[in-house]
Amino acid sequence: MTDSAVVERAQQLRMLITQYNREYYELDEPTVPDAEYDRLFRELQQLESDYPELQSAHSPTQKVGSQPLDAFSQVAHEMPMLSLDNAFDSDEFAAFAQRVAERLDSATAIAYCCEPKLDGAAVSILYEDGKLIRGATRGDGQTGEDITANVRTIRNLPLQLQGDYPKRLEVRGEVFMPVQAFAEYNEKALARGEKTFANPRNAAAGSLRQLDSRITAQRPLHFYAYSMGVVSADKELKNSHFERLQQLAAWGLPISGEVQRVTNAEGCEAYYNAIMARREQLRYEIDGIVLKVDNIHQQQDLGFVSRAPRWAIAWKFPAQEEMTVLQGVDFQV
Ligand code: NAD
Repeated sequence: MTDSAVVERAQQLRMLITQYNREYYELDEPTVPDAEYDRLFRELQQLESDYPELQSAHSPTQKVGSQPLDAFSQVAHEMPMLSLDNAFDSDEFAAFAQRVAERLDSATAIAYCCEPKLDGAAVSILYEDGKLIRGATRGDGQTGEDITANVRTIRNLPLQLQGDYPKRLEVRGEVFMPVQAFAEYNEKALARGEKTFANPRNAAAGSLRQLDSRITAQRPLHFYAYSMGVVSADKELKNSHFERLQQLAAWGLPISGEVQRVTNAEGCEAYYNAIMARREQLRYEIDGIVLKVDNIHQQQDLGFVSRAPRWAIAWKFPAQEEMTVLQGVDFQV
């Protein structure tokens, strides 16, 4: 490509990705499959890496999610809610693990916490004195939407913590609609002549951002916690991500039963294969797994880049179907 062709292609990709972000994050109505979005995103990342003069803080490759909707009050995240870098095959995961090992320069193998990548919507839930006082979406990572009334309707999300919890606890996790509940919901909606959802992810994200929480209450939403945000200093936290998840569970927060700690990168690969083989039997839809360096000090040493931590990666499964139907539109993956 000539230089002007490169600049033009980068502009075209930014426009397309910005449009798809709006459809996906703001309207909950994507018009292209995730695999197509991921391909365009990768192409833009590659152009920006090959031609550093194209890099810009305004590029969608540097941003998380999308602007919060004006219809909701805004919540400033005390700690940004980031995205995750992706690996699409075992070579890409191996390259990630290699970068982690080199940066940490550790004499011993690096342990990872392996988790299913739940396909729903990220939320931040704040507890004070054990009581659920606020729920927020990720939004653009810095500012989210206040969805407190809606998260209060999620049946497996406790309104009151139990046990020896910290005075102030922000927990982060995914709100999702289990596959069977999603199918039943769509069946009933169809029978009533109401709008159906394209997939469980859109169902969860759309249900969470209802202005009337009575509507959210009728949706079969579930929550699994996957990390801590800001936590008051009165409680000692474990130095292991896996053990922190157990602490959350002890305070009454639901976590996925599929979470495992492995002692090295090979263990991550085995976990990927095991979950991949059981993907269809899981109660909820997942689009891959998430691998996180387990040791919190090591996580802190690795730090963050603009939109994602350096200590975690989402290893995505290959696209499940060749042909997908979304909102009545057929397209090739
Ligand atoms: P992501 O979904 O690739 O990864 C980050 C998110 O993973 C987190 O915010 C969290 O919600 C979720 N997650 C699930 N399980 C988790 C766990 N165990 N630990 C930590 N996080 C977990 O990133 P993203 O920035 O939300 O979205 C990008 C992806 O969304 C794209 O790769 C694409 O697949 C899809 N997308 C599609 C379109 C489209 O038009 N089809 C548009 C935008 C985005």
